[in-house]
Amino acid sequence: MAKGTSNAISPTRNEDYAEWYQQVIKAADLAENSPVRGCMVIKPWGYALWENIQRELDVLFKATGHKNAYFPLFIPKSFLEKEAEHVEGFAKECAVVTHHRLVQSADGTLIPDPEALLDEPLIVRPTSETIIGATFAKWVQSYRDLPLLINQWANVVRWELRTRMFLRTTEFLWQEGHTAHETAEEAQEETRRMLDVYAHFAEHFMAMPVVRGMKSAAERFPGAVDTYSIEAMMQDRKALQAGTSHFLGQNFAHASGIKFQSREGTEEFAWTTSWGMSTRMIGGLIMTHSDDDGLIVPPRVAPAHVVILPIIRSEETRGQVLEYVNQVAAELRSRSYEGRPVLVEVDNRDTRGGNKQWEWIKKGVPVRLEIGPRDAERGTVSFARRDRSGEKMDVPRAELPDRLVAVLGEMQEGLFERAKSFRAEHMRPIGSREEFFAFFTPKNAEKPEIHGGFAVSPWCGDSKCEAEIKEALKVTIRCLPLEPMDDGGLTRCVLCGGEKKETAVFAKSY
Ligand SMILES: [Zn+2]
Repeated sequence: MAKGTSNAISPTRNEDYAEWYQQVIKAADLAENSPVRGCMVIKPWGYALWENIQRELDVLFKATGHKNAYFPLFIPKSFLEKEAEHVEGFAKECAVVTHHRLVQSADGTLIPDPEALLDEPLIVRPTSETIIGATFAKWVQSYRDLPLLINQWANVVRWELRTRMFLRTTEFLWQEGHTAHETAEEAQEETRRMLDVYAHFAEHFMAMPVVRGMKSAAERFPGAVDTYSIEAMMQDRKALQAGTSHFLGQNFAHASGIKFQSREGTEEFAWTTSWGMSTRMIGGLIMTHSDDDGLIVPPRVAPAHVVILPIIRSEETRGQVLEYVNQVAAELRSRSYEGRPVLVEVDNRDTRGGNKQWEWIKKGVPVRLEIGPRDAERGTVSFARRDRSGEKMDVPRAELPDRLVAVLGEMQEGLFERAKSFRAEHMRPIGSREEFFAFFTPKNAEKPEIHGGFAVSPWCGDSKCEAEIKEALKVTIRCLPLEPMDDGGLTRCVLCGGEKKETAVFAKSY
């Protein structure tokens, strides 16, 4: 932290939310821009976060009967052409491979060899329904082969013109689940089950409260019959779609020829689903929990739970301090938190104590322990938690492991509660068109960048009303919530005054 300022991140959230977001990523050393426009380098602290997300999700997927597999990065163009809506949805953002060899041209530069033009161009997968569908068509012969429950961990490419680290990048990491079922009901059940898995993951591990709901027709995944999503509120009150689950009906089964012999001996098309969650979740985590001093990471997904910072005052006491630090680290590592060993970092670098402190604050590690010669003598540690700035206390070494595990639990719960009350403050039923427009107009807010929230309002079901507010306010229907929500008991569409068909959650979004 520079002298004279009160926060580690400049600008603050209130000053410039978008820039604050970029600065938090930089200060926490999560990722950086790469030489390839729109693609990022995920650095060790950011990648460790992703590994934790991946591990916890993987456990949940396997517990619901899914198996991991891997499919090719390239999709023949003709595969993508098979599903009309799907191709329309993705064609505008596809990277295309046309050659398989380079040659040196007369001026010495490398050019694609005209002799090596592919008969059929290959698309770098933007998503894998079509290639996995073609494979499922071979794997599925009889009703006995169903359900087929597959997940893939992979990277995908969608050529984005305006990118933002973690939220929207040309290449990103994700998982995509793909399943095939005997009946529509089973496939619908699967779609909802995975939505619930995502909601549980977001709330339990990421401490990120979400609204579960169905997308309106206009916001559906290209080629899906129904799309469901979980929607979280960021600190600028915009929504982040944090995971989606699609009921694909028989659309992709028809396109890919996924057929099976039924129990009655007839030939039927399978019913399929797909569902995905990506590195976007890290962007969501940053914007849900972080503050003007940098990142805050919920303990359940933290790359480290605690960092120990030895304070070396003199060469005489160095050995004593480091020995004590190693003992404390070993004691903590022998304890478990949420079924895994406590993750301890020891920062032995020879840099000034104050700088080190701030580095770890900005990285969002849940607990920091400072240990100097006096602590070694007295058998204590100086204990500071990331969610309570400025508070430090001396804790006797014997009490430390229990205290640490308790604090991690408290922090996880506290972050979730804080995010829930933030959302509650900025989510409300709105019944009148005037109020709706006022709610979403930036200049009505003290900080124009941070305004609005979630409007829970009646909707007539007509896509014209959706199109109007998208155009006028950049507001969309985030979802038609699955659980009952307070919509003020209103019965007329907030936009046209027509008869209410659905209660919808409206918001601006990432
Ligand atoms: Zn309407």
